[in-house]
Amino acid sequence: MSVQPIRLFGDPVLRTPAAPVTDFDAELRKLVQDLTDTMLEAPGAGLAAPQIGVGLRVFTWYVDGEVGHLVNPDLSLSEETQDGEEGCLSIPDLVFDCRRALRVVARGFDMHGEPVTIEGSDLLARAVQHETDHLDGVLFVERLDAETRKLAMKAIRESDWFGAPPALKVSPHPLPTSGLTRPAGTGGLPRLGL
Ligand SMILES: [Zn+2]
Repeated sequence: MSVQPIRLFGDPVLRTPAAPVTDFDAELRKLVQDLTDTMLEAPGAGLAAPQIGVGLRVFTWYVDGEVGHLVNPDLSLSEETQDGEEGCLSIPDLVFDCRRALRVVARGFDMHGEPVTIEGSDLLARAVQHETDHLDGVLFVERLDAETRKLAMKAIRESDWFGAPPALKVSPHPLPTSGLTRPAGTGGLPRLGL
């Protein structure tokens, strides 16, 4: 198990488009393992490589008890949309209503280079869209309507973790002596972090 520090809003790596994977090697398999371990420890419903500081087009998800990953995703989205709460492990403790496509078909590869297709709706579709956005350097606050986005930016600026010293900012582990860490619970909204 190799839990990695999760990069937070404000880290330039989250605004940088990630590069396609070309080598399906041991390093990629370790990346998928690190993403999976870090996502499950958070816990979150998804995690993209840039969120642990790696600029490659890889993400993992954990929805309805199923864990998966996708490399070099290519999405087809339904016209029909869904409205619902969305969060992000890189923007801790905040959730906002975000409109997404209801269904998604995601084509890509597994860590061994085999072609795979993921079809999903609802939370899986939301997670796949959210994580693919991360690979394009896009954060979900950019998907919010103008008014909600304003509220989100204000809430981010007022968050304890925002602008905290790097040592705390990137720590995935609770530090019992500090008030600047993530609360133990997620306020009754588990698994919304992506
Ligand atoms: Zn996210």
